[in-house]
Amino acid sequence: MAVARPVRVLGLAAVLMWCFFIYQIFHPGKSILKPGAVPPSFERDPNMDPTGEPDGILVRTSEEYAPGLENSARINATLLALVRNEELDGMLQAMRDLERTWNHKFNYPWTFFNDVPFSDEFKKKTQEVTKAKCNYELIPDEHWKMPSWINMDLFDESVQMLKEQDIQYADKVSYHQMCRWNSGMFYKHPALANTQYYWRVEPKVHFFCDVDYDVFRYMQDNNKTYGFTINLYDAPQSIPTLWPETLKFLAEHDGYVHENNALDWLTDKTRRPEHNNRANGYSTCHFWSNFEIGDMNFWRSKVYEDYFNHLDRAGGFFYERWGDAPVHSIALGLFEDSSRIHWFRDIGYQHIPFFNCPNSPKCKGCVTGRLTDGASFLHREDCRPNWFKYVGMG
Ligand code: GDP
Ligand code: MN
Repeated sequence: MAVARPVRVLGLAAVLMWCFFIYQIFHPGKSILKPGAVPPSFERDPNMDPTGEPDGILVRTSEEYAPGLENSARINATLLALVRNEELDGMLQAMRDLERTWNHKFNYPWTFFNDVPFSDEFKKKTQEVTKAKCNYELIPDEHWKMPSWINMDLFDESVQMLKEQDIQYADKVSYHQMCRWNSGMFYKHPALANTQYYWRVEPKVHFFCDVDYDVFRYMQDNNKTYGFTINLYDAPQSIPTLWPETLKFLAEHDGYVHENNALDWLTDKTRRPEHNNRANGYSTCHFWSNFEIGDMNFWRSKVYEDYFNHLDRAGGFFYERWGDAPVHSIALGLFEDSSRIHWFRDIGYQHIPFFNCPNSPKCKGCVTGRLTDGASFLHREDCRPNWFKYVGMG
């Protein structure tokens, strides 16, 4: 039966409108109805450069996330490195490893920190090994320089004592500054003000395994605060008063310790009693912090801020050689729910002389079942079994 011409035109218009409607559903970012409007299933990522690729402006929410897909939705995170200009080659090597095994699939930005300005060569060469955006940040003096309350005569005397006890870098002021910055300053840098998660990377480290999921998203989706690969004992001579200061702090702050803490791990005395004795009650077992994947909200909490300020005032970053690793570890073990701390068993990692080497076809270039390819006595430095014993494998 022939359809009247006006009816046919109306039908065609209806079909066209229907097609347009469907197109809008599947291409919300390209709306031509309301230019500039942000659809409700998208949120603006404050870290992304609005002049960059479209994917950088709009970040899909978790239901649209597809692990392993190139350019899948990034969350609010950065790769982070404190590094000197002279360490460029080591940084490039570490970057190539991490880009090859992981970041080329996700393109998380890199943020580099330095106490002096980065050279043009450093900026150019590091940007060349990644498609992701690189940011180069200068550390403000007030975050780096020795605090005013440190007495230089006492510092000089302490350095002599530490050197007599074979504490490496005791006389290098910059090493003390670095440990303090990593303990309580990095996450206060204005460049990270809108960033939540970070993955710390040092020059010269190695990554061995292909990792096909977004570890930052894993952290967020699983409510994790902190991820580690290796646990080691520390030199007790570098931290004799760290635990006693911590106990003083706890005595002054009721209610700060989390009910599901890892105190038993922190205070274990069974495996290496002499370490516990010399560190005055702390096992010295710590997350080896040259690798850390963390949620900066923990470091930004009042509890941690109070703890860091207490330690900073006590002076042990300079009069002893408190490292950011034991400081972070004690804080996490006391103030965080231990179920929110994750062992990344699948991330093959090495900072000489230790490595984490999973037994997996995804890994190349490391020896499984060992902690080190250095001298065998180094194996006793591994204290992961303590973490597994008191907290579990996660
Ligand atoms: P180690 O791993 O304890 O032997 O210490 P490193 O020498 O590897 O230093 C730890 C990290 O801090 C590395 O990423 C270094 O590049 C960085 N670092 C240490 N001291 C300084 C410094 O004075 N300035 C800058 N910009 N980075 C530093
Ligand atoms: Mn190092």
